Amino acid sequence: MPLEPYACANCGYWQRYFAPPPDCPVCTDTRNDLPHDGWRFLSVPEIASMLTGHWRSLRPDMVAFSTSPPLGLNGTGWLLLHQDGNIAFEAAPFYTAAMLSEIERLGGIRFLAASHAHGYGALWQLQDVFQPEVLAIQKDDLRMTKAFRVTWPYDDALELRPGLTLHHVGGHYEGQAVLHDEHRRILFCGDAFKVDQNERGENLAVSTHKAFHKEIPLTRGELRRYRDVIAPLDFDTVCTPFEYAPGVTRAVALAVLDDGLRGPPGVRHIPMRDLARAPQEGSTT
Ligand SMILES: [Zn+2]
Ligand SMILES: [Zn+2]
Repeated sequence: MPLEPYACANCGYWQRYFAPPPDCPVCTDTRNDLPHDGWRFLSVPEIASMLTGHWRSLRPDMVAFSTSPPLGLNGTGWLLLHQDGNIAFEAAPFYTAAMLSEIERLGGIRFLAASHAHGYGALWQLQDVFQPEVLAIQKDDLRMTKAFRVTWPYDDALELRPGLTLHHVGGHYEGQAVLHDEHRRILFCGDAFKVDQNERGENLAVSTHKAFHKEIPLTRGELRRYRDVIAPLDFDTVCTPFEYAPGVTRAVALAVLDDGLRGPPGVRHIPMRDLARAPQEGSTT
């Protein structure tokens, strides 16, 4: 029997199965809610008829791919343009023919990676179409990768190319990783941080969590791990699978973690105005 890709209508997670799958491992996980009205899985033709593809350049060498109306977690696929081979990190819920043509026009994909299952989107499509040289996922997330083939599992860190390095942070998901882009000064942080933004895309508050909707906090050890990994990395922007957030700097990110380490466990949405006042590293005051 041929295996067909199906997307969970509740969260958007893709599985290849011989029939609509019996359940969804993302939705049955502690960190997520089950669909209140039962399982519904969507085939590629159904999804293709539902969604419209979009892309926008955030800077001359970086494009964000998304679809509408929202499907599941509704993440963003980031494409970083390089003359000798592009990097795609995270993925949109689905790639329409027009989106795939645009990626082709921009030079295809040489390196493909994602932070954790909530950022996978339709990663399998990008692998099928562009056959990237490397598909890198941290080894503790391998159990979620059945819809595609990981070609480069890694332990603590993996440098995809000079200045672009994946770092394992764990925490929210055991295998969660971040991608640090030294030259663009961006941390693609997965769900290590959540940025609350208004409709104009302005940053209102930042939080960190084990589970966002269920408000399960991270342990102190997990917060310390985030801090240990992130503290040496220089950045002035974070990109979650859902938000592009210039102004969420390393100092802001560390202030969120320090609040977690000081206080009782909790998922606190700390206003940007309070985080911006956090002492800067190296400050003498
Ligand atoms: Zn699901
Ligand atoms: Zn997540």
